[in-house]
Amino acid sequence: MKRLCFYILFLSCLFACLGIAYSAQKEIFFTLKEGEKFVDKLQQADISREEALLVAHKIRKYIDLNQLPVGFSFSVIYNERGVPVELVIPKDVGVEFVVDLRRVKVEKRKLKVKVYEKEFFGVLEPGDSVFYSIYNKTKDPRVAYQFVSIFKYRIDFHTWTRPGDYYAFICRVIEDERGRKKFDRILVAKYVGKKVKAEAALYKGVYYDRKGRSLVGYFLASPFSESFLRAPLRYKRISSRFSYHRLHPILGIVRPHLGVDYAAPEGTPVRVVADGRVIWKGWIGGFGRTVKVRHKGGIITQYAHLRRYARGIRVGKWVKKGQVIGYVGHTGLATGPHLDFRIKVKGRFVNPLRFLAKYSRRYYVFKRKRRPLSPEGRAFIASLFDKIDKVIARYQSMLASQS
Ligand SMILES: [Zn+2]
Repeated sequence: MKRLCFYILFLSCLFACLGIAYSAQKEIFFTLKEGEKFVDKLQQADISREEALLVAHKIRKYIDLNQLPVGFSFSVIYNERGVPVELVIPKDVGVEFVVDLRRVKVEKRKLKVKVYEKEFFGVLEPGDSVFYSIYNKTKDPRVAYQFVSIFKYRIDFHTWTRPGDYYAFICRVIEDERGRKKFDRILVAKYVGKKVKAEAALYKGVYYDRKGRSLVGYFLASPFSESFLRAPLRYKRISSRFSYHRLHPILGIVRPHLGVDYAAPEGTPVRVVADGRVIWKGWIGGFGRTVKVRHKGGIITQYAHLRRYARGIRVGKWVKKGQVIGYVGHTGLATGPHLDFRIKVKGRFVNPLRFLAKYSRRYYVFKRKRRPLSPEGRAFIASLFDKIDKVIARYQSMLASQS
């Protein structure tokens, strides 16, 4: 019966639009303007003030009619004699309240909904924030907020974004038979920037990156956290670790070894582990030919037993992460060719292996509890990432053909 009513309504609207006189029920829509009250608006719809107050009272427990926003829209259905018979007040997408005006009875009505996916792609303009850019496209702050929160452990959207960065996401949309729609959850999202890149796909309520790691379990320390190399050279093995009491292989006495020895063939290039400035180049007793580099944050790295220095290395010179500063040798007190590598942080030697493991890593793990993604889960997110990659490729070729 309700379905039938709806069809009659629909047809009557259609005929009204077509300008055909049709004498059955008619539905007229009303929209609240600035400063207008719902009850007053009902009077415009030929519903008396007494009746309007009664309706407001009846529907109070579902909707507060005094709190309706500007732009809120509802409809009144009139019979063939032009008498208002029903009042239709939408609550949410797919839900509306129908007031039978003759009996003043309120009924909650569920509408049929369809669910589909919608794609978005955007490029940041100078002065744009990600939030603003997405809001501009979707006109929905909740979607923009969702996008930003998905990546909150991976991207600092306040400082790491740059004009020209781009993003894409696919969002589920729910639309009811009256054409009201809302954005549901973002299914897959990607951000590609000059400083940072991140992606996420939704599976069973959790967002994962392409490797199947939960976005909540891992976070990006900073786009600069990869500021150190994992090791200053390609080594064969670690011949001696950081220790406070090691039996010295040549001196035969127990002495602290406050560095790490990487065994490697003579002449293997030695690279500086981070950007910095050379503060020492020269012979130091048992260390032989040695280079010291000062980095940001009061960090000094030291490279010893070098056979020779790289060309152009001198005190005061700025060096880049990965730049060759010398070559493996066995100058000073050394049993064979190796690099003695040390790190001092604010005047204290630290374990170089532990330090580099930490600061060469892109992600910090702060929660290991979540179990790895199942094979089905992996396949599922892989298909979502595939989808978003295609969206990006399509938009990019569109942009390329425009310019
Ligand atoms: Zn050593």
